[in-house]
Amino acid sequence: METIKTAKIKRVNLQPVQRVQLECFYKLPCPNCGEEATRRYFYQSNLMETACESCDYLLVSCEETGDVVEAYAPGISR
Ligand SMILES: [Zn+2]
Repeated sequence: METIKTAKIKRVNLQPVQRVQLECFYKLPCPNCGEEATRRYFYQSNLMETACESCDYLLVSCEETGDVVEAYAPGISR
């Protein structure tokens, strides 16, 4: 599961693997189910990822423009 998420980010970011380093992360309530989710920021990119292990919620967006790069929210997306 973790491998899939990372692969998506690398694909959209179009940067060498070593330049996409994990800079920091913190916990926040999941916007989908309210359980504990993790927000991550990536070094040398404007991407941030919000991921919840409880419901598989995933949101990858550009911090600068607010554009959503990758999003998956079980139960509300369809
Ligand atoms: Zn959730």
